[in-house]
Amino acid sequence: MKTPKLFLLLILTALLLIYPLFAGFSPYHIDLRQENIKIALPIIMYHKVLKGRSDIYVITPEQLESDLRLFNKSGYNFVLPSQIIDFVEGKDQLPPKPLLITFDDGHYNNIHFAYPLLKEHRAKALFNIIGVFSNFSSNSGYSSNPDYSHMTWSEIKNLTTDGCMEFGNHSYNMHNYRPRFGIGKLAEETTNDYIKALTDDIMLMQSKMAIQCGVLPVVYAYPFGKYTPQAQTLLPRLGFKMSLNCNEGVTKIKWGEPNSLFDLRRINRSGLIESGEILQKIKEYS
Ligand SMILES: [Zn+2]
Repeated sequence: MKTPKLFLLLILTALLLIYPLFAGFSPYHIDLRQENIKIALPIIMYHKVLKGRSDIYVITPEQLESDLRLFNKSGYNFVLPSQIIDFVEGKDQLPPKPLLITFDDGHYNNIHFAYPLLKEHRAKALFNIIGVFSNFSSNSGYSSNPDYSHMTWSEIKNLTTDGCMEFGNHSYNMHNYRPRFGIGKLAEETTNDYIKALTDDIMLMQSKMAIQCGVLPVVYAYPFGKYTPQAQTLLPRLGFKMSLNCNEGVTKIKWGEPNSLFDLRRINRSGLIESGEILQKIKEYS
């Protein structure tokens, strides 16, 4: 009786010793290595891309290309929200040095100037759409002009199958300064009225995206970065898995913690600085 027990013990010991050699190929490898791991997720915020124009929210195609070259050269890997969500939900790993680039407001010039560059440099990006602007370009005929148009619903729909682009909710009609600043609460409205107005706007955009483009956004980008405690509570309840503000910085996200994807900071890519300065900011904040 002693021999089989000893034999069994030897086998078990041998298995424990050789396990690390195969751990890399095991389906459980991800859980074992990534558990409790926090990683820095730099998110760059772009707006308009226009020829010969640069300001705090406008860059030229040349500046965008310079950024993309530098990110690639520096070993960053472009990732999409769906990949980031899989990571925090414990379903998949992220590549080393993940980087999310975002374009806010759904400008048509993003398709005209940025999209070809994104393809050329194998980049991926999230586009945060404002419903009322895309609806206007879709219905008024004021479309396909890099200077003032926004992406139409059909343009967005066509890009959803690209595989390198995902779309976020940037409000239907709460991207205004007055009377309400972004999604801010009006002084005279009750909390319940405010929550109803916010819910109605968010869900109107969700239904437009679902009906017109066939996608249901899971990312909410706060207009002007303005957020409220009510919105922070509401978004996960409405099915959102990620929210973005405009506070400058880099947030750490955590394996197995879906809540770590809310209130993510971003770095605005001003057209008034060089690509190298963006890289420097990422390093400082990470
Ligand atoms: Zn915006």
